Amino acid sequence: MTSQQAGHVLIVGAGIAGMAAAITLRRIGARVDLIDIEPDWSVLGAGLTITGPTLRALRQLGVYDEVAAQGYVGEGIRVCAVDGTHLHDVPTPMPPQAGVRGSGGIGRPALYRILSSRVLDLGVRPRFGMSVETITQDADGVDVTFSDGTAGRYTMVVAADGISSRTRHQVFPQAPEPQYTGQSVWRMFVPRPPGVRARHYFLGGPVKVGWTPVSATQMYLFVVERTSRRFRPPHELPGALAGLLAPYGGHVAAFRESIGQDTEISYRPLESFDLPGPWHRGRVILIGDAAHPTTPQLASGAGIAVEDALVLAEELARHRTVPAAFEAYSARHEQRCRFVVASSIEIGRLEQQQASPQAQTAVVERALARLVEPI
Ligand SMILES: Cc1cc2nc3c(=O)[nH]c(=O)nc-3n(C[C@H](O)[C@H](O)[C@H](O)COP(=O)(O)OP(=O)(O)OC[C@H]3O[C@@H](n4cnc5c(N)ncnc54)[C@H](O)[C@@H]3O)c2cc1C
Repeated sequence: MTSQQAGHVLIVGAGIAGMAAAITLRRIGARVDLIDIEPDWSVLGAGLTITGPTLRALRQLGVYDEVAAQGYVGEGIRVCAVDGTHLHDVPTPMPPQAGVRGSGGIGRPALYRILSSRVLDLGVRPRFGMSVETITQDADGVDVTFSDGTAGRYTMVVAADGISSRTRHQVFPQAPEPQYTGQSVWRMFVPRPPGVRARHYFLGGPVKVGWTPVSATQMYLFVVERTSRRFRPPHELPGALAGLLAPYGGHVAAFRESIGQDTEISYRPLESFDLPGPWHRGRVILIGDAAHPTTPQLASGAGIAVEDALVLAEELARHRTVPAAFEAYSARHEQRCRFVVASSIEIGRLEQQQASPQAQTAVVERALARLVEPI
């Protein structure tokens, strides 16, 4: 597809998927309109674990060096018992030609800063605080009206508006609603102790605990809990998190003792759904969590969102029409996304059953090895 055929693209949602798509579509010469319902690019200050395949995708996007410099990159996952005793390591090898380390982490705000400055450098001027009102398409294009009273006609619409995607509701009215998986995740930033060089899991307890370094000096601690409580008032969080960490030793015990009423803690219920493919209708395509939200057990949601953007632009460049490119995109990437979602749900199920650390990490290791395969 020439840059003229790529035409004028609307991207709905300026999160990781939307920013990545803005970058890859600008690179193939498309004119890009990017909108987001939020007033700006500020994002919850939580940490993000990034796998080797995600680092490879970020390298293809052209931001690996910045991610490596501002975040953490390393190797492997160290698996420990509740008291902190080292049990074994999960290797995370990447082939040398990938040019990236096997494991990483970064603060979400840092990743947003890196991606958004690239989007702006490419001449995209996002419009914030607005959403799509109506979408009508014909064989040649898509007519869109916006909540601010403006309108536009586009060659295609890329819906990257997240797990509760309004575009999905508009274009796939039969789509299933997100369902609570029975687990919620707690996260807090902690100082990175000297000598901590890898991601860690602490397994064998009533909850799953872990940490990921996100810079030279910081990491984030997470707890995955099986619970029927999807929401908790903020004042409950410090005491309840300290309670969950009570049995844990080593550095985790020190982090627990540091928790006070002012500690910033994020508590998020995990949700998922299975949308039958293909994830496009005519000239509208869903990417990222709008199409395939995944629980974080494989730490690959951001990675497959970036891969969506890479594969979509490659297929648009390779095909003469938008529908042909969308078909090729589906054939190439849908199964891989489904694999990430299914493996993450499977690990979550094992966590909820309190399966042995070996049983849980075997699925992680197998899944990561498969994701190393070329896209
Ligand atoms: C607790 C938790 C922990 C996670 N940890 C990790 C991890 O460690 N590693 C990892 O790789 N993945 C992780 N994930 C998954 C990862 O966060 C997502 O897969 C990823 O952020 C998806 O990006 P996205 O751009 O598709 O969606 P989002 O990040 O949700 O972005 C959607 C964007 O669309 C905008 N929007 C929403 N509605 C509208 C609308 N109507 N109109 C316009 N704009 C709209 C939003 O404001 C937002 O900017 C985690 C998920 C959860 C829930």
